[in-house]
Amino acid sequence: MELFELVKAAQKRIEGHAHVTPVMTSRTLNDMTGAQVFFKCENFQRMGAFKFRGAFNAMSQLTEEQKKRGVITYSSGNHAQAVALVGRLLGIRTVVVMPDNAPVIKREATEAYGASVVGYNPDETTREDICRDLENRHGHTLVPPYDHINIVAGQGTAAKELLDEVEKLDVLLVPCGGGGLLSGCAVAAKGMQSTCRVIGIEPEVADDATKSFHTGKLHTVKNPPTIADGTRTPSLGNVTFPLVLEYVDGMKTVTEKAIMDAVKFLLYRMKLVVEPSGALGLAAILGSSVKPKGRVGIVLSGGNIDAATMKMILDS
Ligand SMILES: *Cc1c(COP(=O)(O)O)cnc(C)c1O
Repeated sequence: MELFELVKAAQKRIEGHAHVTPVMTSRTLNDMTGAQVFFKCENFQRMGAFKFRGAFNAMSQLTEEQKKRGVITYSSGNHAQAVALVGRLLGIRTVVVMPDNAPVIKREATEAYGASVVGYNPDETTREDICRDLENRHGHTLVPPYDHINIVAGQGTAAKELLDEVEKLDVLLVPCGGGGLLSGCAVAAKGMQSTCRVIGIEPEVADDATKSFHTGKLHTVKNPPTIADGTRTPSLGNVTFPLVLEYVDGMKTVTEKAIMDAVKFLLYRMKLVVEPSGALGLAAILGSSVKPKGRVGIVLSGGNIDAATMKMILDS
């Protein structure tokens, strides 16, 4: 099936399960920039981030046999919570592999959504090896955080909904970690309106995808020191890298200061709680990485921020 058709099919599949999140605007920002900015508020998605879309699209397509055996994933962030919640909704057992040193609150949040957490010592083994072992021993199906076409198609529904609602955009700004959200949104945006430019946004200190995009060779940045924890993935994937090269028009980076300024702006001016990774698109505008013109779409990808991080940002 053509890729855009997969996004449309995903939109049907998640209907009635995922929220159609609101699109918001800021008069202040429009006056500041002379552009018209439309925010797609995935901080209001179920479990607080767009990851619900991909997880639901992927897990609802498993065979009955796969559903019975359960699924496994590795992540300590939003993808883990998405898989856990979708598992509860669809009656699928979920196992989340997390390093023993993951924050207790992340572990508890994932367990609260109904997943079992399996810890491992990151000095002794890798999460991929633990997953492979559990796949082999129990027949669990791996649901990866971004590098799967059904995950990509699900994430793309965020841009599809945005364009369904606002109809025309000159440019769409999308945060980029492993590139699932970016490639899905690019496929959707080009399918809806081929003239819409799609720009991926990364932290400057985690610029692997920007380098990969410009050189055509896969670059890796391990454990980048960015506050945007949803984009700390080391590189694009086998599925997402070719899609980013084919469908995305550009990549831009933002400083840590611009990210924090964006989180502050969203809270104070728009009363929106957005996590640092979710604020990358606005950071690109506030930090002048992107000069906004015409009708600009921004995906606010998630809102899961703890009090200590928010306080640190507001005090900065
Ligand atoms: C996962 C995540 C991202 C990055 O998405 P990828 O598909 O890995 O590029 C950005 N923002 C938030 C809030 C996330 O949870």
